[in-house]
Amino acid sequence: MATDIRVIGGGLAGSEAALTLSRLGFAVELWEMRPVRPTDVHESDLFGELVCSNSLGSDALRDARGLLKAELRELGSYVIRCADASRLPAGKAFAVDKTEFARNVTKAVLASTGISIRREEYLKLDPGVPTIVATGPLTSQNLLDDLRNRLGHDNLFFYDAVAPSVWAHSIDRSFVFAASRGGDASDYLNCVLSRDEYYAFVHELQNARQHLPEMTQEQKYFEACLPVEEIARRGDDALRFGPMRPVGLEGRPPNCYAVIQLRRENRDGSVLGLVGFQTSLAIGEQHRVLSTVPALRHAEFVRYGLIHKNAFLRAPQVLSSSLELVAYPRVWITGQLCGVDGYVESTAMGFVAAISAAVRLLGRPMPLWNSTTMIGLLLRYVTSEREDFQPTNANFGLVPTVQGPRQKPLDRQAFAAEALAQTRRIVSEIDSLAKQETP
Ligand SMILES: Cc1cc2nc3c(=O)[nH]c(=O)nc-3n(C[C@H](O)[C@H](O)[C@H](O)COP(=O)(O)OP(=O)(O)OC[C@H]3O[C@@H](n4cnc5c(N)ncnc54)[C@H](O)[C@@H]3O)c2cc1C
Repeated sequence: MATDIRVIGGGLAGSEAALTLSRLGFAVELWEMRPVRPTDVHESDLFGELVCSNSLGSDALRDARGLLKAELRELGSYVIRCADASRLPAGKAFAVDKTEFARNVTKAVLASTGISIRREEYLKLDPGVPTIVATGPLTSQNLLDDLRNRLGHDNLFFYDAVAPSVWAHSIDRSFVFAASRGGDASDYLNCVLSRDEYYAFVHELQNARQHLPEMTQEQKYFEACLPVEEIARRGDDALRFGPMRPVGLEGRPPNCYAVIQLRRENRDGSVLGLVGFQTSLAIGEQHRVLSTVPALRHAEFVRYGLIHKNAFLRAPQVLSSSLELVAYPRVWITGQLCGVDGYVESTAMGFVAAISAAVRLLGRPMPLWNSTTMIGLLLRYVTSEREDFQPTNANFGLVPTVQGPRQKPLDRQAFAAEALAQTRRIVSEIDSLAKQETP
């Protein structure tokens, strides 16, 4: 089968792009370097592996990530379908069994007759072949260097941290209570800290040794995903108003001043993730500091937290409004590399890149991703010129504000209804793109 297009990277954006193009009848060559060449963070050779939390954000339409998922569902996103099939109960959060999810994505990719797979590192761009680059925040250095040389500016980075997870059997149940901030109480376990325990814990955290292997340049964190020690350094009470807040939890014991929430990461509940507890502490320090929390005194770690560089490009300077490189027509940059942050955001940009490539290869006009949809807002953000470009996640702050003294707050319900109506219009445009009958 002759290849119509290459997709580089079998993560969230790349898998979504490859599956979407295959559905439209294109022959796709999907390159994935794992397991031949691992990244510092991925743990498997599965497509669509989630590198940290098992949460894809809220599912509510009045939440930006909830709306983004709803738009992707309307569009027939394969990745979101796999997420729906591996969903776990988790209160208001949309959490999945991570292994089941990645297996579902892998199964879909392997079952797709339009996709051929190359387990190889893609070293440098071949502009002669239509290509979608979806190599993500952990893009291999060879490819990053090539992109930097071609695009004429330094690659950009920020730092993102992973939260640890622990074996459920190692938790001391006499210091936890089950409660969820909305949803079923049994979805979360809350490790109780009294007032004294909380401040002692914060003090240990503020003074613990970090492991920052690469952080030689100016330290830039993504504000929506700060390591807990960084939050703790911003003030003794910052954590108890942040990820350790004890509010909205029914049945809270009277001495409960703060909590660490645990959420199951797999279907049988044997592995629990520490919610919002991404950390860059050295491994020994994670043991030492977390063991000051009574429920975690004997916790056995399944995975330690860590910090890593996240690569992204200065997208507005190099991409057209359809994610195509201005200097290299028929090459699209997508996923985290194009300047969005998050699992669902990367998936959404993978879908957009697939459609952009399909219309370009078929000589058809681009569907209208305007600012009335969350996908359109993200696309507009990453492709509009701005000073000091930094990645963004989905949020309602991306909605252009109407200027004037009597600005009304955004009616999210109405916005979501219009976004889904506009998405349905786009669906019919996309359906007309199919190159041949769906396999
Ligand atoms: C440490 C860390 C923690 C994160 N935690 C979260 C979180 O908890 N929640 C959240 O929503 N987002 C998180 N993110 C952000 C990000 O949205 C996710 O990483 C998301 O998976 C990005 O999707 P992607 O498809 O762009 O990249 P990925 O899912 O990483 O996929 C890229 C793929 O490309 C492959 N690849 C790289 N270079 C090459 C090459 N040269 N040739 C061939 N293949 C290559 C990689 O092996 C990988 O499989 C985190 C990121 C990092 C780095």
